[in-house]
Amino acid sequence: MALKDFLPQMYRCSSCANCKFIPFDKVQSARFSENCPSICYFSFHSYAARGRYQLAKALVEERLEFTDNIVDVIHNCTSCGACDVACKVCRYNLDVLDHNLELKAYAVEKGHAYPRQKEMIGSLKSEQTMIPGMKKKDRAGWADGLKAKDLSKEKAEVAFFAGCKYSYDPELQKIARADLELLLKCGVDAGLLGAADNCCAGRAYQMGFFDDFRDRAEKNIRAFEAAGVKTIVTPCSDCYHAFKRLYAKLGMDIKVMHFVEYLESLINDGRIKFTKQLPMTVTYHDPCHLGRLGEPYIPWEGKDKKILNQVLVYEPRKPRYNGAYGIYDAPRNILRSIPGLRLAEMERIREYSWCCGAGGGISETNPDFSSWTAGERITEALSTGAEAIVTACPWCESNLRSSQAEDGRKLPVFDIAELVLKAL
Ligand code: SF4
Ligand code: SF4
Repeated sequence: MALKDFLPQMYRCSSCANCKFIPFDKVQSARFSENCPSICYFSFHSYAARGRYQLAKALVEERLEFTDNIVDVIHNCTSCGACDVACKVCRYNLDVLDHNLELKAYAVEKGHAYPRQKEMIGSLKSEQTMIPGMKKKDRAGWADGLKAKDLSKEKAEVAFFAGCKYSYDPELQKIARADLELLLKCGVDAGLLGAADNCCAGRAYQMGFFDDFRDRAEKNIRAFEAAGVKTIVTPCSDCYHAFKRLYAKLGMDIKVMHFVEYLESLINDGRIKFTKQLPMTVTYHDPCHLGRLGEPYIPWEGKDKKILNQVLVYEPRKPRYNGAYGIYDAPRNILRSIPGLRLAEMERIREYSWCCGAGGGISETNPDFSSWTAGERITEALSTGAEAIVTACPWCESNLRSSQAEDGRKLPVFDIAELVLKAL
């Protein structure tokens, strides 16, 4: 769809402002009732989903021209989708996040991208990673010495896909390594893509670089198909969303699981047994791309139809991504199964979780906004009395680790696999 195709939606939006808050029946306090990092940080209506519709309408109808401020509004969105699921509490006929992304793509197409974004895309093209400065030749270093199959030479049931952040971040590489070691120790027939292991490009999509995303995705799909694997397992939530939702839309027909789903099945099968107590209270942060944006892709082809020349419906009925079927229970079940561990929930959880601030390339293009967003989450986590935040995404982990709460406090951040390993 082009941005102009969203014009009916731009008129359909009723200015109710529900996209700025978690649903009112879920609100426990005013302090943690808001859901959109962008409107909260910038405090100007254009930054909210409703404002983005209004801005896009004026651009499409040629009543407005691009300025630096407009470009800032468009790109300073973490693509977290909180507005989308909030809107869908009451509405079924607006695809708010798709619109936000299409607006970014429109700006990119018209030449309005940040230099930092161009640098990331340049790195994607030259080194097949969106982390500038990293080299393709160093990508597989995190797995040195592990006895995983090389899928370019032999077949395996499972492709383990670490993703760029786990592959290159020295702080996080050990987590990818521990994940794969755990799979191999449990007898899982897992391998790595080897030379064909490249960025999933999900973050290119989140920044509105649709053509670059598609180009990389199609190559990756061919690599997965050539490897002949039955399942792709990834510990990265961005990669998970890219494969589960975006690659599926491009025709990939391979089962995709996040590492926490696979881990839960290994625990349930008795292949992982805990032997140690972990007496601590933790809170769990739902990564946006594993939670509300982790719902499977459902193909749909149809058209709009008006009933009584007034009520718009879709024929056939259109899938409604309201976040309810994301991955929420697997990580919580794992945490609850660790002896001695107590889970204290934050106020904004599951599909109404507050974003960590790293999405949409914001950790690279606007670190202050990104860090403030993470700080808000740490403040919320501290309010539960938890001693640590646990999550299941390297981007969330990295951003939460480097940020602090509004009162300056920090909290230890763990990947869920780290806690599992401590309790074995
Ligand atoms: S985008 Fe949805 S929730 Fe936001 S103002 Fe429009 S109709 Fe309301
Ligand atoms: S996607 Fe997230 S940051 Fe962007 S407008 Fe929606 S709620 Fe705000």
